Amino acid sequence: MNDFEKKILEVTGSPLKASDITTLQVNIGLQCNNQCRHCHVNASPARTEMMKWSTMQLVLDKSHETRPTLIDITGGAPELNPRLRMFLKTLRENDYNVQVRTNLTVLLESRIEKMIDFYRDNGVKLVASLPCYLREEVDSVRGDGTFKKSIEVLKLLNDAGYGLDPSLELDLVFNPEGAFLPPQQSSLERDYKSKLQNKFGIVFNKLITITNMPVGRFLKLLHQQNSYEKYCQILKESFNPKTLEGLMCRHQIDVAWDGRIYDCDFNLGLDLPIGFEVPLYIDTPDFSTLSNRRILTGDHCFGCTAGNGSSCGGALVD
Ligand code: SF4
Ligand code: SF4
Repeated sequence: MNDFEKKILEVTGSPLKASDITTLQVNIGLQCNNQCRHCHVNASPARTEMMKWSTMQLVLDKSHETRPTLIDITGGAPELNPRLRMFLKTLRENDYNVQVRTNLTVLLESRIEKMIDFYRDNGVKLVASLPCYLREEVDSVRGDGTFKKSIEVLKLLNDAGYGLDPSLELDLVFNPEGAFLPPQQSSLERDYKSKLQNKFGIVFNKLITITNMPVGRFLKLLHQQNSYEKYCQILKESFNPKTLEGLMCRHQIDVAWDGRIYDCDFNLGLDLPIGFEVPLYIDTPDFSTLSNRRILTGDHCFGCTAGNGSSCGGALVD
C-alpha cells in the first residue's frame, strides 16, 4: 500500500473511489511543437502517437452512453492531430460542451490554418497555458520566444471574441516555475488580469492554477536537481482533506490516444491504466459501471491534495 492510500484510509476509512463521470478527458496525441520542462506526458515534436478516427468514434459512442457535462480535449498539442476538426465538429453537432487545452504557440504554426476561426465558429471553449505573465519565466519553462508568441495569439483570440463574448470562454493556466506550490488562485488571477490588461490589453475569463506533479519530464528534472524527496515531502506535509471531494479522478475518465483509459492524465503520464495489469480500453462494455470504480493511486497523488488542491480545472478549495 502506498503512502497516499494509507493517508486516504486514515482520513476517510475507505480507499479512494470515483463518484460519477461528468467529464471525459481525451488525450488525442503526444506530439507537441513545444518541449516544456514541466510536461507530465513527455510531449515533444518527436512524438508520433496520435488518436485515430476509429478511437474518436468510440469516444463518441461512450459519450452517448454517459452524457458527460464536459469533453475536455488535451495532448500534446491537440491541434497537431489532423482529425481534431472533424472530432470537434461531430461533438458540437451532438450538443456536447467541449473545451480544448491549447498551448497558444501552436496556433502560429503555418500547418495550422485558421484554427481560431474554427474554434470560434464551433463555440469551442479554450483553456490556454501561460505559465506566468512574465517573459523570463515563460521562456525558461517553454523555450525562448514562447512568451512573445503566446501574447500574439492571445491578442488574436481577443480579436475573435474570446474572453469578451460570453459564449467564447478563454481560461489561462498557471504552473509554478519550479518545485513549489502555486499561490492562491484568486489573488494570482487578479495579478494576471491587471498585468496582461495593462501591458498588452489582453482579457480572459478565469485563471486555473495547477500544481506541478512529480510525473513525466518534471519528475526527471526533480531527480536531476536532487530535489525529488524534498518536493514529495512538501506535497505530503501540505495534505488537505478538504480537497478529497473534488479530486478530478472521482468525476472523470481520461482516454489516451490509443484508447486506453485512465483515472487522470497524470496516471496516463505514469502508464497506470484503469485495470492496471490488464488495461481497459474505451470500448469496454462496462463503461458506465466505472463511475464507482476504485481509483489507482500513487504517491504522486499528493500533488492533487496539497494546499488548495489541484486539478485540470484548477484549485479545489481556493
Ligand atoms: S506542457 Fe503542454 S505545451 Fe508543453 S510540451 Fe507538454 S503538452 Fe506541449
Ligand atoms: S493524480 Fe490522478 S489519481 Fe491521483 S489524486 Fe490526482 S487525479 Fe486522482
